[in-house]
Amino acid sequence: MKVMKFGGTSVGKPERMHQVSQLITKDKERKIVVLSALSGTTNALVTIGHSIAAGDREAAKKQIDDLQSHYESFVQDLVKKDENRAKANQILKEHFEFLNIILRISFSEALSKDILAQGELLSTKLFSVYLDEQNVEHVLLPALEFMSIDVHDEPQISAIRSKLNQLLLKFKDEGLFITQGYICRNARGEVDNLKRGGSDYTASLVAAATQSTVCEIWTDIDGMHNNDPRIVGRTIPVEQLSFDEAAELAYFGAKILHPTCIWPAQQQNVPVKLLNTMQPDSPGTVINQSTPVSGVKAVAAKDGIIAINIKSSRMLLAYGFLRKIFEVFEKYKTSIDMITTSEVAVSVTIDNASNLKNILKELEPFGTVEVEENHTIVSVVGNEIAQTKNVLSKLFEALAPIPVRMVSYGGSKHNVSLLISSSYKTKTLQLLNKGLFGLE
Ligand code: ADP
Ligand code: ASP
Ligand code: MG
Repeated sequence: MKVMKFGGTSVGKPERMHQVSQLITKDKERKIVVLSALSGTTNALVTIGHSIAAGDREAAKKQIDDLQSHYESFVQDLVKKDENRAKANQILKEHFEFLNIILRISFSEALSKDILAQGELLSTKLFSVYLDEQNVEHVLLPALEFMSIDVHDEPQISAIRSKLNQLLLKFKDEGLFITQGYICRNARGEVDNLKRGGSDYTASLVAAATQSTVCEIWTDIDGMHNNDPRIVGRTIPVEQLSFDEAAELAYFGAKILHPTCIWPAQQQNVPVKLLNTMQPDSPGTVINQSTPVSGVKAVAAKDGIIAINIKSSRMLLAYGFLRKIFEVFEKYKTSIDMITTSEVAVSVTIDNASNLKNILKELEPFGTVEVEENHTIVSVVGNEIAQTKNVLSKLFEALAPIPVRMVSYGGSKHNVSLLISSSYKTKTLQLLNKGLFGLE
């Protein structure tokens, strides 16, 4: 079995869906194809949810109608035969009727998840109609029947494995399966999702559950690049990454991968390939267990970081001080990314501000608390970077003009993280591109 996941841009236009159909029928290996929503759809659904939550039904109605028109013209170019257009239009009718019904119901968190799920349901059903038109035999596997998360929003690995394999057993002679990325059921049995960009996570979970030979993530770029191509001028693809290196890059902001999507594949040692739907012959990036070569592979940046500094003269010799501080963050389910300590102060960073007020209140008794918002973590990733000759000197030389707020190294051998004010992000990524990779 192999898994092939296609992102929003890879299915965002009818001609792209046609191309995806060619890519998945190239060889006869049994495969599960995971699809995202068409590009722009999840953003549109988020906006619709916000309008409904704000009680602005008029705006929501207009947003739903605009989205529907987009899909109506999409279907015209996707399939040609009348019977298939009728089938596709019937699918649109059902899903847009559902959105229009939601307009009339009082809003809830659960309902907003139902809204978000429409994107992947639509893309997979429409793609299935296209495959029918091409006479490509396939089975549509409903992700809501096997993908689930627990009360902590974590995937239920063993339940996913057994439900998915049971489903597959029903179709022993079939070779091609299509399923939705991103969507799942939560512990209450409601429709939920794996957070934005979560289709990558679905792909990795499915690949692990089926012990696939490979998990291919097809997107709009030829692999993981050495730096963020949306920000710096010239970037180059990285040929190979270890699972740990890829996980660090994904977690610290390389948008090409969902932040936590690597671990399921890593656990089952399924190699992950990042490939370009628009240039299918480019080698892309291979992520696997092979012993990584030393040196810097790539840099990534994660925005929206808040730095919290706690100064306390009592910290001196006070064992248990850090535990008490961490317990506050634990209580509010807020994970800490970076930590630096001195004898009289500790600084930590968080990216989730939803409980910030409560956290700050509970930290007050420990000393003087200062908060700095709008920060960015820049991570330099590669195996044994600090041991690799000249890397740290080049790094700090390159960053001479940047006021670096925190530095963290040693937690993993693969990562040096720097905290900067977000206003310096572009400059920092450009300076590192030149200083570490010689690229401008
Ligand atoms: P998909 O819709 O296929 O999931 P995404 O938009 O989530 O695609 O991810 C691909 C995008 O990630 C690229 O178009 C690129 O702009 C962005 N990106 C950010 N950092 C990197 C990086 N280091 N390497 C490659 N792409 C990156
Ligand atoms: N459609 C979802 C999103 O845009 C999931 C994904 O594309 O991975 O976040
Ligand atoms: Mg993505």
